[in-house]
Amino acid sequence: MAGYVELHAHSHFSFLDGASSPQELIRRAADLSMPALALTDHDGLYGMVRFIMEAREVGIQPIVGAELTTDGGGHLTLLVQDASGFSNLSRLISRAQLDHSKGEASLSWEQLEAHHQGLIALSGCRNGEISQAILRQDWPAALEAGRRYAALLGRERFFLEIQRHLVGSDRRLEQRLIELAEHLGLGIVATNDVHYAAPDGRPLQDVLTGIKHNLPIHELASLRRPNAEFYLKSPDEMQELFAGLPEAIRNTAAIAERCQFNLDLSAHRLPKFPVESARATLRELSFEGVRARYPQLTPRVVDQLEHELAVIGKMGLEDYFLIVWDICNYARRKGFPAKGRGSSANSLVAYCLEITQVDPIRHNLLFERFLSEERGGMPDIDVDFSREGREKVIQYVYDRYGEEHTAMVCNVVTYRSRSAVRDVGKALGFPAAAVDRIAKSLTRWDLEGAAGALKKEGDGLPWEHFAGLVRQIEGFPRHLSIHVGGMVITGAPLVEQTPIERASMPGRVVTQWDKDDVEDAGLIKIDLLSLRTLDVLAETVRLVQEHEGIELDLSAIGLDDPAIYNLMTEADTIGLFQVESRAQMQMLPKMKPTTFEDVMIEVAIVRPGPILGKMIHPYLQRRQGLEPVTYVHPALAPVLDDTMGVILFQEQVLGVAQAIGGFTPGEGDLLRRAMTRKRSYEEIEKMRARFVQGALNQGLSQAIAEDTFDKIAAFGGYGFCKSHAAAFARTTYETGYMKLYHAAAFYTAFMNHQPLGFYSPEVIVEDAKRHGVPVLGVDVNRSGARCTVEAGCMRLGFNYVKELGPVALERMEAARAEGLFQSLEDFCARVDLPREGLENLVMVGAFDGFGTPRRELLWRFREIQRQPEGGMRLAYPDEQLCFPELSDWDRTAQDYQILGLTAGQHLTTHFREEWIALGVVPSRDLRAQPDGKRVRVAGLVITRQAPETAKGHVFITLEDEFGTVNTILRPGVFLRYKPVATQSSLLILEGRVVHDGGAVNVLVERVRAGREEVTEALSHDFH
Ligand SMILES: [Zn+2]
Ligand SMILES: [Zn+2]
Repeated sequence: MAGYVELHAHSHFSFLDGASSPQELIRRAADLSMPALALTDHDGLYGMVRFIMEAREVGIQPIVGAELTTDGGGHLTLLVQDASGFSNLSRLISRAQLDHSKGEASLSWEQLEAHHQGLIALSGCRNGEISQAILRQDWPAALEAGRRYAALLGRERFFLEIQRHLVGSDRRLEQRLIELAEHLGLGIVATNDVHYAAPDGRPLQDVLTGIKHNLPIHELASLRRPNAEFYLKSPDEMQELFAGLPEAIRNTAAIAERCQFNLDLSAHRLPKFPVESARATLRELSFEGVRARYPQLTPRVVDQLEHELAVIGKMGLEDYFLIVWDICNYARRKGFPAKGRGSSANSLVAYCLEITQVDPIRHNLLFERFLSEERGGMPDIDVDFSREGREKVIQYVYDRYGEEHTAMVCNVVTYRSRSAVRDVGKALGFPAAAVDRIAKSLTRWDLEGAAGALKKEGDGLPWEHFAGLVRQIEGFPRHLSIHVGGMVITGAPLVEQTPIERASMPGRVVTQWDKDDVEDAGLIKIDLLSLRTLDVLAETVRLVQEHEGIELDLSAIGLDDPAIYNLMTEADTIGLFQVESRAQMQMLPKMKPTTFEDVMIEVAIVRPGPILGKMIHPYLQRRQGLEPVTYVHPALAPVLDDTMGVILFQEQVLGVAQAIGGFTPGEGDLLRRAMTRKRSYEEIEKMRARFVQGALNQGLSQAIAEDTFDKIAAFGGYGFCKSHAAAFARTTYETGYMKLYHAAAFYTAFMNHQPLGFYSPEVIVEDAKRHGVPVLGVDVNRSGARCTVEAGCMRLGFNYVKELGPVALERMEAARAEGLFQSLEDFCARVDLPREGLENLVMVGAFDGFGTPRRELLWRFREIQRQPEGGMRLAYPDEQLCFPELSDWDRTAQDYQILGLTAGQHLTTHFREEWIALGVVPSRDLRAQPDGKRVRVAGLVITRQAPETAKGHVFITLEDEFGTVNTILRPGVFLRYKPVATQSSLLILEGRVVHDGGAVNVLVERVRAGREEVTEALSHDFH
């Protein structure tokens, strides 16, 4: 290998100390005909997988490296020669990270001494230990350090790094380094400490430095790099720059030649599950499970099981299944639900191991969509746990496999328009008020909007420049967070596979790679997610057992109860998983689900994928028989048969790509990966030409081919796969079952896991009342810390009383365990509560059981407070003072203010008489109104929505004592009435009734506020 290879380069994964992505660096190196390039970010391998993937694509040799911070603050460049070097580098970074507080990584000499095999070290930039000693003119220290590194690594693996950035002090430093090299017999090597791909990256680099030090650029002084020389220079440039030191150039190529490491961790991906034979154990458990799941075993089921076990065996994934089985099994043993979601629900083995809860045979789910030898790629098992359960499960995994073998997958948090505007504006020293105003006006993803808004300002400041920088910084990593559930477990220690570091959550560690990197590197992640609905279901089961004496086994309930489908068809779905939103409620009466398959479609259809792909309308038309089922090509019939010729599920996208685009299974897998990743749209667009050509070959017209691909691209990653829809639909059905047959327990549990779902607790309470579950108010002698079931009713818990707080809940429970409270005075003597909390308890009637008017209780409480500690109790002058009871309206208003809801009459009952006089139609009578009829409706606003896909339309849902009313405001109407429509809690709307395939809406023409006093009385919950 001839010429020059850059061995010291930083990407934006040096976090605010590098202005180009790893991919840009690689592409630039390719443009410069550099045969290899090293990436050496600070204290991490964050960008390494992308770097390597891009290098493979453009045909450049990637060199894995990092610039580590050593104890004492020096910098040391480490490069990987081989697999042992990679393990060591990964371990060194992990230790440097884990042994110090977050963000303070530091490598100790002892660690380097123990784990340097396979690594080549360069002495680092000006901040290297040796350079620092020279710069402070401490020659003995420089000599000592040089000797120490040389003794540890030998002259083959330790080089003195020479950089020429045309800075005055460079020359002196260089001379001393060369002297030292000669003195110790060490080699020298030229590097450029690259911080951006091309010279024009410098302004951004300066901005990043400003952000890092929280200073405007003009105040950075020496913190900022002195000039624009820190770009990736061509071999010619470097050769010319180092004309007098050919050895330094030659050594770069020689070192590069020795760093031939190819990242593929698939051999280490999983630990062995601790059984003698994983194969035999998996087989045994599967057959045990299949007998339990299928009382009548058919040959079809057995054949399928054998087939799956054979494929799993060939792919060497037995341990993987056993590990996941063990995790789910642990959760269940501890009483926490576990339910697989995603593509694993296609697998019969997963079903038999109770990893998933849907029957793949019954629902026609295909195993090949989960695991296929032909397609390759690694399977992905995602499991939902209850929130409570998930924490326990993660701890179990740590304990079982050890902290060196497990970590959570990180999520790289990147700059979006808003954060970019703020940070860049500050670094450029722009007026803070203007920057703040612009940032606030932007949605999180609106980069174009940011650029436009900045350009419009134009008051003498370089806004264009600002906008340009904001555009460049978009997508730059800011910091790492924890991915929602991804966990990596490895056989060989994880710290040797990928560096890990502290997460912001105490006690947790994360990989330096995100989920896509982990997959590309060949590791397997297991997603342990949490789903609050599972907490609700688990609590409902407990409450049913406790109060109804029934032992429910949710996995055993059938899926063919017409009453449950009827609930959905009537859009009576508040509280039902996935189908309770306004959009779902509009769809359900048109869908009229009667089977489980229909529910699968229902949960999959109201998703951005089908919406953007414009699939909903044709599907409903076809379902209602208003349009024939057709296919653009006969080859699509088997792919889209289940969904009437319309793409609704993710795997149908793959099916279409194969059937008419002529994609191979491998290409199909690339498409799948593109669909499940961030920025999927661009990735998918790359495949357009391939698809269109395939379709043309099949005889389709250009227009149809393009149109079909448009649908695929729009669908992107925003759709469910069929098995995922099945897994979710099962949960939907179970929530329906609970709402219908165990309502008191269900609503109570639901109230105890807020916030959850689409509605506020107020809406849930009203729904409970309408479904025959009386709601009882807060009572000091009857309520618990949480809501409880009491003789078929729901008793509100103390958790809904504002200003109490968790400590107070405990105190009350503890005091009452010693005996019921006898009076307000007794309560005050035994429980120490904040004044606001106690007054709130009084005003919501928690002491009503003592038969004293609330106002009097309040007066008495204030008297108690006025007494000195242990002072005499006052005799109550009940003759002189008279406390009238609160009016009904006052009670309701107090309830809404303090609890956000009421156990009593709905707020709108107080206006009914007035509204009857105004001709307001109550919600329950709306359906009977003819289409197009002009009506007035009124109620409490429970949702206001302006979805992006609705192009300016606003949807408002009102609630009265009988139910809900859905209304639509066209953009013009909304703008005319915007202040009232967005601010009033109680609205009276006038418009026309629209019957739309079973859904009833009011198309609003006029808006007026209900009572201002209501808006004032209600908390922000209703805005
Ligand atoms: Zn450095
Ligand atoms: Zn550096």
